Amino acid sequence: MSVDNSLSPHGGALVEQVQPLSYAGAIAGLPAIAVREQIAHECVNIAYGFFSPLTGFMGSADVASVAATMRLTSGYIWPIPIVLDVAEAELRRQGVGVGDTVLLTYLGSPLATLDVAEIFTADLTRLAQQVYTTADAAHPGVQRTLAYADRFVAGDITLLGEPVINPPFDRFWRTPRQLRDELAGMGWQRVVAHQTRNVPHSGHEYLMKGAFMEAQADGVLVSAVIGEKKEGDYIDEAIVLAHEHLRARGFFRADIHRTTALLWDMRYAGPREAVFHALVRKNLGCTHHMFGRDHAGVGDYYGRYAAHEIFDTLPDLGIRSVLTLEWWYCPTCGGVAYEGICGHPDTKQDLAGRLIRSIISGGTEPAPQTLRAETLAVVRQCAEEYGFGSPFVTERYLRERTPALTVAPGWFSGAGGQSSYDASGA
Ligand SMILES: [Zn+2]
Repeated sequence: MSVDNSLSPHGGALVEQVQPLSYAGAIAGLPAIAVREQIAHECVNIAYGFFSPLTGFMGSADVASVAATMRLTSGYIWPIPIVLDVAEAELRRQGVGVGDTVLLTYLGSPLATLDVAEIFTADLTRLAQQVYTTADAAHPGVQRTLAYADRFVAGDITLLGEPVINPPFDRFWRTPRQLRDELAGMGWQRVVAHQTRNVPHSGHEYLMKGAFMEAQADGVLVSAVIGEKKEGDYIDEAIVLAHEHLRARGFFRADIHRTTALLWDMRYAGPREAVFHALVRKNLGCTHHMFGRDHAGVGDYYGRYAAHEIFDTLPDLGIRSVLTLEWWYCPTCGGVAYEGICGHPDTKQDLAGRLIRSIISGGTEPAPQTLRAETLAVVRQCAEEYGFGSPFVTERYLRERTPALTVAPGWFSGAGGQSSYDASGA
């Protein structure tokens, strides 16, 4: 298959399964299941087509096929199982069976309906081994898999009304349809995606600039992953606002750079997650995706450039990868230098990790070759405004921050996932 279809969504058509709030009358009397943040994110992603061609949570045949072959039973590439886990006891309590329509609630309000096509179990250790190439419980993706409840519920999802995206993420939130329209409006035909969970230091900035030139792109789309956090991560607000400021301050021309938000709880599946990132950005309208060192990896489970190698095996992905080596600061070259060019690897100063964190934590002011002073100012402002004084996730941030995604309340009087509610207020 050629890559000429790279502007088409994965599978050919953008999935859109969102009903207006007036649909509420139709949910009266449905059994209700309360879902956690990860599942709420995935419902939104399915319903707006971020996960095209998925129309719902996967059944056993797709899960087995994806785990074993990285393809759906339809033949389309898909690397990571997207599943809804529910305890059997909960299904029994709610009287849920195959053929039923179930109401999924989030934070006490209706989020989506699910048409139950199958209820099944899976060998979680085997599933983890297949997807992550390890069953080591220290791997966060394996941990997530092993923690699944004892049943998977498969079926199509319909979102009930538009979700609420809270500030400052609302400025960056675009559905695939909206983003595709916006990119087309700007005349972007070649769009290179940058996946991030980081405040951009000089290495990231040059990674984007290098990929922009290599792809001969019309623009760079920064796609910031907003999702589950652990202590010590950058707070989400600092990530999106620091990237946006690179454009606002002209380090990228205003017409070649956009920042957007993706609700996704990282699996750290290394090369498989790289493929997943590529597919989601293809659905956003990107033609290219940049991949640097150790993309979406964790620990040393995957090779340094495993994410580069996997694309050789997937000619029908429909989005091109831009594979880049590392950018570092080289005192001999006198600036930010590229691994593939600079001949002084012995004296390089790694831009990643500890150095940047120590700068942000407040000791030294940054040299412009490491972290821009303007970026540092944005990060410090975000710490005050959103991080309870810290640019890094703290226990308090996890407890008290406003989630990026909530659901419009007011027309639903049910509480705590109970199935008694009054839909008449819609
Ligand atoms: Zn050098």
